[in-house]
Amino acid sequence: MSLFSFPDTSSITGTEPASRSRSIVIVGGGIIGLAHALTAREAGHEVTLIERETRPLGASVRNFGTIWPIGLAFGPEREQGLFGMRRWRELGPLAGFAADPCGSLSLAYRGEAWDVLMEFSSQPGAPEGFTLLTPEETLARFPMANPDGLRGALFSPHETCVRPMDALTALAAHAARQGVKFETGVCAIKVHDDAVELADGRLFHFDHCVIAAGEDMKTLFPTELAAASIRPCRLQMMRTEPVAGRLGAIMVSDLTLAHYPAFSQCPSLPALKRKIAITMAEHLAWGVHVIAAQHADGSLTLGDSHEYGHSLTPDIWMRVDDLVMGNLATFTRLPDLKIASRWQGTYLKSTTGQTQVVLQPRERVTMVTAMGGLGMTLSWGLARRTVASWELLNEPAEPLL
Ligand SMILES: Cc1cc2nc3c(=O)[nH]c(=O)nc-3n(C[C@H](O)[C@H](O)[C@H](O)COP(=O)(O)OP(=O)(O)OC[C@H]3O[C@@H](n4cnc5c(N)ncnc54)[C@H](O)[C@@H]3O)c2cc1C
Repeated sequence: MSLFSFPDTSSITGTEPASRSRSIVIVGGGIIGLAHALTAREAGHEVTLIERETRPLGASVRNFGTIWPIGLAFGPEREQGLFGMRRWRELGPLAGFAADPCGSLSLAYRGEAWDVLMEFSSQPGAPEGFTLLTPEETLARFPMANPDGLRGALFSPHETCVRPMDALTALAAHAARQGVKFETGVCAIKVHDDAVELADGRLFHFDHCVIAAGEDMKTLFPTELAAASIRPCRLQMMRTEPVAGRLGAIMVSDLTLAHYPAFSQCPSLPALKRKIAITMAEHLAWGVHVIAAQHADGSLTLGDSHEYGHSLTPDIWMRVDDLVMGNLATFTRLPDLKIASRWQGTYLKSTTGQTQVVLQPRERVTMVTAMGGLGMTLSWGLARRTVASWELLNEPAEPLL
């Protein structure tokens, strides 16, 4: 298997089906499809995954690789994110990719941002492990943080960093070793009541089907998707050449606190948002907030911006890069960064604030879509829930999410 290919499973027979095994067909080999495939296989099902490309190309290999429970509201969604974090960390050594348990550092430069962090970490139900740091403590632990104007920071130990292409490739190979069969390079063009039809005419029969087609709204169940209150969002990203020294955590600052729903209960958030609206109008117009995630080789993934709509342009906007790099310099002290590559990614997002949208266009067909900017984090918990919903999960005593 080449490094960047989906595995060739034509010669792998897989393990014998369990007595309660059912035939599962998954459409889509991004993280949502792979998480469902592996989870279903672990539960004892016969699984075939259909992917139109011959290597991962979707949002799942265009993201930061940050597993980000801190972005999720306290309650079931955060639990789903924490479950995802645990799965990524256990699968790293099993599948053979790096899952760095580095945690995240939210740096506050405005007084309102510091207030938000204090409120956030003292909310009822706030998890153990959150640590508020003074500027001195922050700089002692994270010398690459920018000291100028720093009010303090929140360290959270749960966030985890993977390199998406490495992780997806290793996960696909791991799934193949567990007996998931891959049909790649061929598009699923229609899903019937009990079979998926491929463009080459073959039919794959199923007891249950999961469609995880990423941003594609036009091929499978387009009418249902058009009615589902979702829209595309395009993001712009960069990766640097390797940097000497380590950030020590995934770093974000004030702008990010205003971005994720997790902080919405903090009384000081409206004041922070007002301040940002006055001082950073152009960042808001482009939907820019900045995450810096460092990988094992020292390179940094940087981004991002958010453009919404059904008729997005193909441009890579230099102004967005300038805004990202300018904001990065306000909260990090990094030597001259050399950009190695730029790219765009697109995901579907709910227009009604849902973190994930699950449709059932046919009785035994589950369509998982609109995972927004947290699909890497939410994927494993969602897969667990889908497989459990078939009442065949081999752990009936465990509560559902
Ligand atoms: C720039 C960016 C940054 C992000 N950062 C993060 C982050 O840090 N943390 C996080 O948790 N999430 C992040 N996300 C979100 C996350 O990447 C997505 O939610 C997630 O990858 C979606 O996974 P998916 O499997 O649904 O889609 P995809 O990865 O797009 O996979 C869908 C697959 O389905 C295939 N397919 C589609 N139609 C068919 C068909 N008819 N037949 C066969 N195959 C088909 C496609 O070829 C594709 O391979 C980010 C997203 C982007 C774009």
